[in-house]
Amino acid sequence: MNDEKVKHVLGLSGGKDSSALAIYMRDNHPDLDIEYFFTDTGEELAEVHEYLNMLEGYLGKPIRFLDPERDFKFYLKQHNDFLPSATARWCTVRLKLKPFEDWVQKEFIDQGYKVKSYVAIRADESFREGLQSKKDIETVLPFMENHIDKQGVIEILENSGLGLPSYYEWRSRSGCTFCFFQRKIEWVGLLERHPEAFEDAKRMEKTALDSGMPFTWSESESLEELQKPERIAQIKADHEKKLALATKKKKVNPLRPNDGFVDFDDLYGQQKVCLACHK
Ligand code: SF4
Repeated sequence: MNDEKVKHVLGLSGGKDSSALAIYMRDNHPDLDIEYFFTDTGEELAEVHEYLNMLEGYLGKPIRFLDPERDFKFYLKQHNDFLPSATARWCTVRLKLKPFEDWVQKEFIDQGYKVKSYVAIRADESFREGLQSKKDIETVLPFMENHIDKQGVIEILENSGLGLPSYYEWRSRSGCTFCFFQRKIEWVGLLERHPEAFEDAKRMEKTALDSGMPFTWSESESLEELQKPERIAQIKADHEKKLALATKKKKVNPLRPNDGFVDFDDLYGQQKVCLACHK
């Protein structure tokens, strides 16, 4: 690519990996004029916005907010209340991918630029789902190229002074409050910390079920069932058991060893999540 006609872009999700990548690029490639962007689904946790504000301060330049044309609930209606799921992820396309493609097309590609898009896949990850190579968009993976793994990401965040986003205490990903990629214990965390968001998700689910749609947000049970005290106690007990076993076998790689943040991926296995929403 001819450098004079190249734009550099880096998508932020509010998660640890893309945040660390932005810090890494700013510190190691200050010569590159990178556009940092965040595509707002309108359904993110307040903590994600707080973290992005802090990150913006560190980067020393504004993070561009891309707005989808319509919000999640508009598209939900368009899909006849059909909740998105890991196998029918219409939300990512409408709320994340399309706004990004429209933005780079209009502002850069139509003006004769090629685009380099920096993506935070770590050296210890193997999946590539959601990575798109297009004629005018080159995907660059600096963490893969420089052998930076999860521990490296944590070090970058700690050294910057930002640390991990606070929601990692109870949830392993950024993205919509009601994201179907959540584990049971994360739904319990949402109920306890953001009960209004849990209620909102429950309402959407009820409308979907009343309309004859077969899916619930969380596998094999409705949120109404999941929030029953005996079910919550069971989910918490299962989680504690898993944690104790993994700790004993030293299978948990603490995210923050001093105050007990653990990585749910270590406990429950890595998911093939959406790169645009959760990195
Ligand atoms: S965070 Fe989850 S629910 Fe929200 S757009 Fe992404 S995949 Fe869909």
